[in-house]
Amino acid sequence: MPASSATAGSPMEGRLLLTNVKPVSFGPNAPSSSIDILIDADGKIAEFGPSLNVQGDVRRVDGKGAWISPGWVDLHTHIWHGGTDISVRPQLCGAERGVTTIVDAGSAGEANFHGFREYIIDPARERIKAFLNLGSIGLVACNRVSELSDIKSIDIDRTVACVNENRDHIVGLKVRASHVITGSWGVTPVKVGKKLAKILKIPMMVHVGEPPALYDEVLEILGPGDIITHCFNGKVGSSIIEDDDLFELAARCAGEGIRLDIGHGGASFSFRVAEVAIQRGLLPFSISTDIHLRSLNFAVWDLGTTMSKLLSVGMPFDKVVEAVTISPASAINLPTENLLSVGTRADFTIFELADSDLTVIDSMGYEARLDKLFEPHWAVLGNEPIAASRYQPVKPETSGAIAPYSYR
Ligand SMILES: [Zn+2]
Repeated sequence: MPASSATAGSPMEGRLLLTNVKPVSFGPNAPSSSIDILIDADGKIAEFGPSLNVQGDVRRVDGKGAWISPGWVDLHTHIWHGGTDISVRPQLCGAERGVTTIVDAGSAGEANFHGFREYIIDPARERIKAFLNLGSIGLVACNRVSELSDIKSIDIDRTVACVNENRDHIVGLKVRASHVITGSWGVTPVKVGKKLAKILKIPMMVHVGEPPALYDEVLEILGPGDIITHCFNGKVGSSIIEDDDLFELAARCAGEGIRLDIGHGGASFSFRVAEVAIQRGLLPFSISTDIHLRSLNFAVWDLGTTMSKLLSVGMPFDKVVEAVTISPASAINLPTENLLSVGTRADFTIFELADSDLTVIDSMGYEARLDKLFEPHWAVLGNEPIAASRYQPVKPETSGAIAPYSYR
């Protein structure tokens, strides 16, 4: 790796010069060949162009011809370490993995969001956003104590108040709509969630899985801007390739602005479903990990590996990069334009598409060989460069994680 004096946790001083990086996903007006980028001490872009001649005191990161994109956004994670039994520490899936914005998908509900804010969001160097769980308790004891067993699980007034008091952090509502969580309650919690999301004017992210609720009926409730996560799951009764009517409905809804998010996770990504959907022209809107203690060392590992899996089943390179940058950014109202402009705060990921012969698995346990790998090298947060790499999985028995029984 290139030399840098970057040290985790200590604020950086002075200017930073990124050299020999090739822009991608910055829009049609961005340079398409290698450039240098000078970042001022205040973290804003001062200048960019081919072979900048920068004099004076400046720290340098040599990109060595690697790609540079807007900072990666992981739209579906679980990072409330200590507040739930499934979450990983944010450091594990953040800047050190090339991810500059981590979005937690419903680990906290209204009853405990204040702890998530104080202990996770506030100290983090990454930008952290959250979908608030519709169930008041969130994922405290995930799938052992359901957050949505009946209407007593939801406190409408407090949920609305919690969103209104935390609009700088909360970007939407999360509803997990499958029988593992909701029993026989069906699609009703999705309807209640949609009502609140409408009132609050925020999107809703719905987890689809084992029916009820049916993927089909969830799609009928959602509208433009809402998100289906686990869109390419391979579960019987919830796979979009086993039912042509569902496939056509999903494709139509995607065309109308419902966002299909990968949400890989321990049980919710199928190579086969992704491959067939992409062959038939249905691409995911966003690629996310659904990283948690039961998926981390099993199938998921990190965002770069998850991106590589989508590339391997036919998603074009530039679409893969969009699906972790401007697409998820747009879903949570972050800026998507002028990200490579003088005066904009620097938020970048520097990465390589490397040759590989790595064998990986999907959530169903099926193996695939990846011949290309997204390898993050640096996350750049303002004037701070943070060295990044893919996660090296460890065997579950030594990871401290609970055995990977089914998380859905
Ligand atoms: Zn999840």
